[in-house]
Amino acid sequence: MSAFSNAMQQLDSAAKKLGLDAVVVKKLKEPNYVHEFEIPMAMDDGSQKTFKGYRVQCSNARGPYKGGIRFHSQVDLDEVSALAFWMAIKTAVVNIPMGGGKGGVSINPKELSQSELEKLSRGWVQKMAQHIGPNIDVPAPDVNTNPQIMDWMVDEYEKITGDTTRATFTGKSLEHGGSEGRGTATGQGGFYVLEELVRALGMHTDGTTVVIQGFGNAGYHFGVLARVAGYRIVGVSDSKGGIYDPNGLDPEAVMKTKQEKGSVINYESGIKLTNKEILEQECDVLVPAALENQITAENATNIKAKIVLELANGPTTPEADVILWSKKIYVAPDVLTNAGGVTVSYFEWDQNLKNEHWSESEVFAKLEPIMKDAFKAVWDAHKQHTVDLRTAALMVAVQRIVDAMK
Ligand code: NAD
Repeated sequence: MSAFSNAMQQLDSAAKKLGLDAVVVKKLKEPNYVHEFEIPMAMDDGSQKTFKGYRVQCSNARGPYKGGIRFHSQVDLDEVSALAFWMAIKTAVVNIPMGGGKGGVSINPKELSQSELEKLSRGWVQKMAQHIGPNIDVPAPDVNTNPQIMDWMVDEYEKITGDTTRATFTGKSLEHGGSEGRGTATGQGGFYVLEELVRALGMHTDGTTVVIQGFGNAGYHFGVLARVAGYRIVGVSDSKGGIYDPNGLDPEAVMKTKQEKGSVINYESGIKLTNKEILEQECDVLVPAALENQITAENATNIKAKIVLELANGPTTPEADVILWSKKIYVAPDVLTNAGGVTVSYFEWDQNLKNEHWSESEVFAKLEPIMKDAFKAVWDAHKQHTVDLRTAALMVAVQRIVDAMK
């Protein structure tokens, strides 16, 4: 099933529970604007190539479109549309004054030199400059895009439009208007959600065991915070495989090994497992923090965790959701759990517009109540309507979007 079909299936089940009018549902399913364009480029070897670029502007009912730009060979309109929809849901779940959008270029950026990558980034902006802006659409990094790319993009945007607020792109470097705390925001936000869910389920922090699939930006920062708070990290994995140690792992030491020896599997302790096996290990909390479609109808019955905390986008398929819920496994959905990233992006935009620079502690002091309020709204909807947490999150978000549309 396509990512967009998955997203629309989620929307349908929330809309049904909310009793939404068919006309409203149709409106929610149709993005406001779909931009598809060619980016022509002179390559370093003198040849000419053309790459396909996208920006889908899903909903601006609650504020400017907000969402990343992905550089990946699998980028297509279906994927960008699904991600744009989920961004509209995510910004509504955390109740920030932003809408939802997503962009991308169908390209394997690893095949480009630095100067080609810069040209591509500037080329995307040349095509989209008239359709984005601080009060229109505010892109950010996503898969294979980073602060350097955002800095090139904001520079190109300034050259074309004369706008010097730097508020048209977030995820910039600190030297060019980026926010403190953006690097750790997703892990931090996910940690706040876990703390609330553990409390709501009457569980305890101390000794609660955690397995993290995907030891990158989101998974690593989450792991460090969780361990400091008293959780026991018993398993971690990356693209090469995983390690499992019931006595507990130190995320900082494992990351050092990953940096020095290429993978977590080279860590000195623990048993080595495949990526499939690590998901099915004994633990209280399973944290998918890598890719989409990791928990499926095939492995959902083997999941032993009490909580699945989705730091990745779309790690659980709709079929797996049904199986997990029938086993009373609580899935803290991506649109809530990883929304710390977009929330700090919103803070960056806010700081740029006010010409301010907040300290990291100010950023996290503002992030914490936003994540906790979002959890409460989702938990209350789950209780009130007797639905799983994903449907509850969709219901909260869709209702907020519909209210704004009205
Ligand atoms: P990242 O590239 O920093 O890390 C990804 C990690 O996953 C890497 O360690 C990689 O080795 C590992 N990995 C890849 N394939 C794997 C596999 N099959 N099994 C296990 N591990 C595998 O990426 P990230 O920024 O941490 O993002 C991870 C996920 O979180 C993505 O789904 C992303 O969309 C989502 N997310 C991230 C942010 C953010 O701010 N970083 C915000 C929202 C959502």
